[in-house]
Amino acid sequence: MISVAIDGPSGAGKSTIARRVAGELGFVYIDTGALYRSIGYYVLKQGKNPEKKEDVTGSLPGIQLELRHVDGIQRVFLNDEDVSDDIRTPAVSMAASQVSAVPEVRAFLLELQREMARKNNVIMDGRDIGTVVLPNASLKIFLTADPEDRARRRYEELLEKGETVTYEEVLRDVIQRDYNDSHREIAPLRQAPDAVLANTTGFPLEKSVALIRSLVEERLAGKDDGK
Ligand code: C5P
Repeated sequence: MISVAIDGPSGAGKSTIARRVAGELGFVYIDTGALYRSIGYYVLKQGKNPEKKEDVTGSLPGIQLELRHVDGIQRVFLNDEDVSDDIRTPAVSMAASQVSAVPEVRAFLLELQREMARKNNVIMDGRDIGTVVLPNASLKIFLTADPEDRARRRYEELLEKGETVTYEEVLRDVIQRDYNDSHREIAPLRQAPDAVLANTTGFPLEKSVALIRSLVEERLAGKDDGK
């Protein structure tokens, strides 16, 4: 099986780009952030505090997660309910970042992610795919862009969805999540030594898609040559 790991900070366009490249090249796209978001969502729904470790670990036994692909689109099921749309709010983003610092949460999700890569040719995006989840991935990409660029993209996405937020709030959230993600003790966000760095600051979407697609194609061609 071929696996492509795409890691990077929030709002770098990982999911949009990875979904597009996966669709074009016939890979299954796995958005691992959706798994952390589902746990954050469940904790909030239970009226628990995602910043409190006991609240988070205490919630795990009540959680059953499954990724299903419908026409190439990933849907995430939490206890058999499709929560794919509910997990996209700013409150859930922050809760996901908080629960993701809990080691039990990362352990809980590890096998599910690896199993997806064992069964399918995948493009998997997240924060620790190249460093922890798939250390032997066929290709690792670290996809990033400046915080202001990422906040602007996320802000436009949220506005389109009808959320009432300001750019300043989104930028503050992006900076806070970057900090949480890169300073946590377990599986912090960092570039794997063997990952290719792709900085898409100022790139229109099409240019980013073309860049990532060419990296994947080059690696696939290398494989065909037996390199
Ligand atoms: O990618 P997305 O923004 O949907 O991820 C939500 C949160 O889940 C991130 O801020 C990060 O804290 C966490 N996450 C993680 N490891 C992953 C994917 C996401 O810690 N592989």
